Amino acid sequence: MKLISLVIPCYNEESGLGLLYKTVLEALRPLEGKAQLEFRFVDDGSHDGTLDAIKSLQANDERVHYCSFSRNFGKEAAMLAGMESAKGDYVAVMDADLQDPPERLPEMFDALESGEYDCVATCRSQRDKKTFCLNIFARMFYWLMTKMTDVELKEGARDFRMMNRAYLQSVLSLKETNRFSKGIFVWVGHRVKWLSFDFEERQSGKTKWSFWKLLRYAMEGITSFSTVPLTASFGLGVVTCLFAAVMCVKTIIKTLFFHEPVPGYTTIFVCLTFFSGLQFIMLGVMGLYISKIYKEVKRRPPYVIQEEK
Ligand code: UDP
Ligand code: MG
Repeated sequence: MKLISLVIPCYNEESGLGLLYKTVLEALRPLEGKAQLEFRFVDDGSHDGTLDAIKSLQANDERVHYCSFSRNFGKEAAMLAGMESAKGDYVAVMDADLQDPPERLPEMFDALESGEYDCVATCRSQRDKKTFCLNIFARMFYWLMTKMTDVELKEGARDFRMMNRAYLQSVLSLKETNRFSKGIFVWVGHRVKWLSFDFEERQSGKTKWSFWKLLRYAMEGITSFSTVPLTASFGLGVVTCLFAAVMCVKTIIKTLFFHEPVPGYTTIFVCLTFFSGLQFIMLGVMGLYISKIYKEVKRRPPYVIQEEK
């Protein structure tokens, strides 16, 4: 009999955990006799009663395990902690808000059992109801990611997936502190089957994403998997130098042969501000990478556990 570990990162999800637990058990009924289940809840430093809710589930069911962080470390860290502690032959990662349908778990299990796949991943068949701005922003992000990196992210891909030990080992073998799982899952390769499902509204609680958090996440993704922004500064430098050279020749010809007075102040002012702006942008890009190196070399653990059971 196979053991499935279900890793569930939770941040302020108190209101939905009871329903989640019931729904998962119901959904996994078809696997009775074929597979056993263990829950691996990770309480990511919640401020509400999430930990108590998990503990009360555990009091009645020994298949429930949890670890609780000393503060909020983010979903990436929570997923990592869950995957590291999972004992199962197969490990599934799932959100706590029931936006990832647990009914698909048996199908994922069967695909892994067939031996043809190492991971069954999911993506949303339609875009969720983001605002117009966020939609454009998301498109831009996916476009940049495919152009700049060698990991081809699938649009609408979720973290919801089930993997075998081989795939899990590969994911855990990437030891970076700044983890961008969406990219890591693609980077490790292996044989992946994709399932798609419709967008579901959150059952309770509210989303943890704000525009700025998403922007940071997108930057994290690009800088984690691409150095194109760094090398782009070289290209930009060459182009601006060429531009400056052309302007220089033009000015010399104008003064020497046509005796036109050199238009002064405005041109100089515009050029100066434009190019110093450009330099600051490129410095900023370098800063982004340096800050990542800084965070990596400190080798801090990605999370700190307050208690676990
Ligand atoms: N989450 C977490 N730590 C955080 C933010 C979110 O563990 O700092 C969990 C959250 O409890 C949920 C999952 O990550 O189970 C996805 O979060 P959310 O539903 O806010 O993201 P969305 O579904 O909107 O992408
Ligand atoms: Mg959600």
